[in-house]
Amino acid sequence: MKKVLLAFLGVAAMGALCLFCLFLPERTDIVVVGGGAAGMSAAIEATERGCSVVLLEKMSYLGGNSLRATGGMNAACTEEQKKNGIVDSLDSYYQDTMKAGHWLNNKKLVRLLVRNSAESVSWLEHMGLDLSDVGRLAGHSISRTHRPAGGAPIGTSLIPVLTGQLNKRGIDVRTENRVIGLLHNQKGTEVFGVLTETREGRQYKIKASAVIIASGGFGSEPALYVKMDPDLKGFKTTNQPGATGDYLSIVEGLHPALVDMSYIQTHPTVEPNNGVLITEAVRGNGAVLVNRNGYRFTDELAFRDVLSREILKQPEKSAYLIFDDQIRKSLSATDTYFAMNLITKADTLSELAEMLGIHPVVLSQSVQRYNQLVMIGEDRDFGRNDLPSEIIHAPFYGIRIVPAVHYCMGGLKINEKAEVISESGGAIKRLFAAGEATGGIHAATRLGGNSLADAVTFGRIAAREAASLSRR
Ligand SMILES: Cc1cc2nc3c(=O)[nH]c(=O)nc-3n(C[C@H](O)[C@H](O)[C@H](O)COP(=O)(O)OP(=O)(O)OC[C@H]3O[C@@H](n4cnc5c(N)ncnc54)[C@H](O)[C@@H]3O)c2cc1C
Repeated sequence: MKKVLLAFLGVAAMGALCLFCLFLPERTDIVVVGGGAAGMSAAIEATERGCSVVLLEKMSYLGGNSLRATGGMNAACTEEQKKNGIVDSLDSYYQDTMKAGHWLNNKKLVRLLVRNSAESVSWLEHMGLDLSDVGRLAGHSISRTHRPAGGAPIGTSLIPVLTGQLNKRGIDVRTENRVIGLLHNQKGTEVFGVLTETREGRQYKIKASAVIIASGGFGSEPALYVKMDPDLKGFKTTNQPGATGDYLSIVEGLHPALVDMSYIQTHPTVEPNNGVLITEAVRGNGAVLVNRNGYRFTDELAFRDVLSREILKQPEKSAYLIFDDQIRKSLSATDTYFAMNLITKADTLSELAEMLGIHPVVLSQSVQRYNQLVMIGEDRDFGRNDLPSEIIHAPFYGIRIVPAVHYCMGGLKINEKAEVISESGGAIKRLFAAGEATGGIHAATRLGGNSLADAVTFGRIAAREAASLSRR
């Protein structure tokens, strides 16, 4: 009888212990919020430094907007540039980034981005990403946008490579787990972990030595971007549905400083019916823009804000990208647009014009004039500073485009350690942020290719700093 009683008490004690454990918050060194390029890079880097990591992603798949990235990733003074005979400098990259941002950028963060850019590229290459093709996007004074060979889209190569590394390292990745808040002290000056909700609505806590917010921007939240910039009312977006600015509610109660929230970038060339972004690399590799009447009207490689404004001044607030078969072949990223039937194709420019509803004679004249400018090596009409090739190789292609919401330059204010800064000016302890959820690096407008450079570089910086805390 005594034995039975003892056994019963033992089982009851074990049960109580299990129940207790069930309600105890989990513990890990670092929680990463968001599974895009910034979050995945942070998780990999933190694991390399010996930390346990839980990566929480609210969608059912990893990748965020990073998965959609097409044109490439910027870096200066890389091995790939050297192999291609491109002579770049950190200063030139710095100047281009600052100029795009109207010199309102946080200079220290831009310097850090520029200095670390080549290392970010070689880090990814070392993990197996092909970044051997180097092209030039709008606003750059030299070719420094790295992408896979043949000009293939970068996002669909980058995310599988990063996912492979997460798997290889056995990192605890939880999709359909939305972070809804932070565990913090009463004053909101120090963070201890996160509160998360599963798809089924179960809420649970994870305690951590540090939290890295990498939850992206708010380009899929019209109520928010129209509030920040009323001119964007009615605009379509290029962003994935999960880009809803969750960091704003996650940090509630902490009073973080926000910067540049009203700077929202529109991408000038988006197909209006499907919202598919036509990568800047098409223009970078030689395409021209004409309006409904067939006239060229701008420097196609102007900054995105300038170009978007120019397009909105044209009839029907739209324009047409025109290119030839040589440009198509130089950029396999265009294959997707053809597969989606977005591009109109014709054997001659006049035929193409008729199919697109543009004046055929004017279009032919505009392209002829552009070809003359390519021959003399100077765009005397609009000052385009890179004229790669004449548009002469049939078949010819065209697509109607409009500007659409694309990238949020603003976000959480961070310092050079990627620590989140509070309204009162100090760093919030144990809280870091990286990628599109942060502001200050790009300011008024972002150079194409700079976002992935930012996400990977600052994701890794955040992880390094967070890892140093978890070892204490
Ligand atoms: C169509 C398109 C093309 C682009 N092309 C380029 C390019 O060629 N080069 C370039 O440099 N940039 C490009 N960009 C921009 C760039 O892709 C992104 O800005 C950048 O990748 C942002 O990385 P991120 O990791 O900060 O955010 P994201 O990649 O957006 O990742 C954030 C993740 O956090 C998740 N998340 C959000 N809230 C929560 C929450 N509460 N809990 C858990 N998870 C959450 C999101 O679902 C998402 O998966 C492009 C963007 C788009 C849309």
